Amino acid sequence: MLKGKTALVTGSTSGIGLGVALALAREGANIILNGFGDVEGPRAEVAALGVRVGYHGADMSKPADIAAMQAYADAEFGGIDVLVNNAGIQHVAPVQDFPVEKWDAIIAINLSSAFHTTRLALPGMLKKGWGRIINIASTHGLVASAQKSAYVAAKHGLVGFTKSIALETATAPVTVNAICPGWVLTAIVQKQVDAIAERDKVDNAEATRRLLSEKQPSLQFTTPEELGALAVFLCSDAAINVRGQAWAMDGGWTAV
Ligand code: NAD
Repeated sequence: MLKGKTALVTGSTSGIGLGVALALAREGANIILNGFGDVEGPRAEVAALGVRVGYHGADMSKPADIAAMQAYADAEFGGIDVLVNNAGIQHVAPVQDFPVEKWDAIIAINLSSAFHTTRLALPGMLKKGWGRIINIASTHGLVASAQKSAYVAAKHGLVGFTKSIALETATAPVTVNAICPGWVLTAIVQKQVDAIAERDKVDNAEATRRLLSEKQPSLQFTTPEELGALAVFLCSDAAINVRGQAWAMDGGWTAV
């Protein structure tokens, strides 16, 4: 379905981003990976699907890096057809103790980076007459939790940004939507499981159960594969009229 198209997935060296990149690659899209840590492992996993794989190490908190990544995509892949804004970080603390540099980093990486990638990638999509922008927000883009003020503010902001750009592009063959996952067992969440294990003096299995039962009625993690399948649907022709949505995949978290 996506043969000949190029998808840039920010923060795709692990977790949800890698799951989405693999799902898009299975549909034939060439992939530009981005993110920190091991690059060769994810690159090989995507390349095994028979598509072209690029990588750019832009730090998503830096607008100049993001511009350099767009220039790389233009020069090496002829632009970006599917933009998935996924890079994100978390920090948990009450607001009066929240480190100022963590606040700034979360707003920059989880929110402002999507403004920069979008403003740079959208003109090419409009010119080519096809495009998809998918913002990986969170249930925390729809509802709040205590001690996550920066994350909740950034993700609510990302949902608002999604709606605004969807309206700006409403008559164009470019759609803009957000996906709002509940708990997904990735590095970001394992840290929170570890914190519960430490706080309550319980093992990993019990800490995982406590984390899920606090918020996610299904008591099942959402998986990167499920999120990848939703991203593929949003790229399909059938999804042309899905615009400006914040689509939860959260085991019922936001149904209560
Ligand atoms: P993860 O830590 O496995 O992946 C984060 C990715 O972002 C990694 O590839 C990392 O290298 C990259 N990254 C971090 N800072 C970066 C920076 N400054 N520049 C470029 N890349 C950077 O986490 P994940 O759980 O897969 O999270 C992915 C996205 O999904 C995040 O936006 C997160 O907020 C969101 N999300 C996660 C969950 C969950 O339960 N895991 C739930 C809802 C939303």
